[in-house]
Amino acid sequence: MKVKSQLRMKSQLTAQIKTKILIGSIIACTCFTGCTHSGEQTDTTAGTRSFYAMDTYMTFTIDSADADELLTQAQQRVTELEAMLSVTDENSDIYRINHSDGAAVSVSDETAQAISYALTMAAETDGALDPTIYPVLSAWGFTTENYQVPDADTIATLLEQVDYTRVSVDGSNVQLPAGMMLDVGAIGKGYTGDAIISFLKEQGVTSALLDLGGNIQAIGGKPDGSRWKLGIKNPFGDGVVGVLQVADAAVVTSGSYERYFTDDNGKTYGHIIDPETGQPVDNDLASVTIIGKEGKKCDALSTALFVMGQEQAISYWKEKQDFDMVLITQDKQVLVTEGIAAQFTLQDDFSQTVLQMTR
Ligand code: AMP
Ligand code: MG
Repeated sequence: MKVKSQLRMKSQLTAQIKTKILIGSIIACTCFTGCTHSGEQTDTTAGTRSFYAMDTYMTFTIDSADADELLTQAQQRVTELEAMLSVTDENSDIYRINHSDGAAVSVSDETAQAISYALTMAAETDGALDPTIYPVLSAWGFTTENYQVPDADTIATLLEQVDYTRVSVDGSNVQLPAGMMLDVGAIGKGYTGDAIISFLKEQGVTSALLDLGGNIQAIGGKPDGSRWKLGIKNPFGDGVVGVLQVADAAVVTSGSYERYFTDDNGKTYGHIIDPETGQPVDNDLASVTIIGKEGKKCDALSTALFVMGQEQAISYWKEKQDFDMVLITQDKQVLVTEGIAAQFTLQDDFSQTVLQMTR
């Protein structure tokens, strides 16, 4: 099997911080212009730091006289949350839950909150997001990079172990039936981004840009008061499909192109699984970008709406009305919700439709 994964092993990535940032789903355009990442900025109080955590490269830019200290503390918070939420770290809360053989496990408040939130969003999205999909994800090899196409019987058997309604959270006790596995990877970076944003706001920060491996979260605008310019990556190749100008927002993209493998017949399989079929999502969407206030919500919805496909994603948006989105379809249409349309500039090669609220 020929393997083509855009995510490389941790050790291989160490010397490639900049490259990895550029292939993230959402690209902080300041990376291209060098305004915040090359030291050319005029504001001398801003500090930037890149580090590896949660299986990706993160870059935080904070405008503060105490930027260095805040960056150290922010990075430390990320490390703490990763230690609780990692599915592979043998000391994490999630690992302990997954290896408890059905017994209730006492976890940190933060882990309990993250799991509860994932379960709430699973119910809200009618199971398009399902934090118990891990056994199926493993069978496809996405957890180990030993990619393979499982047979139908294997998938059918594993799907019997996928059902978010069977997870119970009671205070700080979490109980998962034996044989099932929990993974909050689809909301973890958003949840972490929210924690860092709260921490920085408590410290009085009014301008910051967090790039958690393509999940972007901003406090305020740039130090000069203008909005942050974020490029939304072209899922079909290099460059961006457009530029979004935001302040005080979370912007999160999901798409199969972020992590996938190709079989001997040239068919590609992406890392987001449809919990109904156990198959990698293969629908009319190439990527989904959600723009909203909270990172965890944008993260949950980007994954879930990608699973749903274009029609259902649009219906969901019309029903909820409390977020904006940019859908990029397989036929290179860019669908932008009306609330964000004025802040989005389309690049050549794509055509745009503005989605209007109909009620
Ligand atoms: P994201 O990059 O936020 O869209 O999350 C994708 C990650 O979540 C994948 O790499 C898997 O670890 C996991 N995942 C895949 N499919 C699903 C799903 N339907 N529901 C919840 N998590 C999923
Ligand atoms: Mg997500």
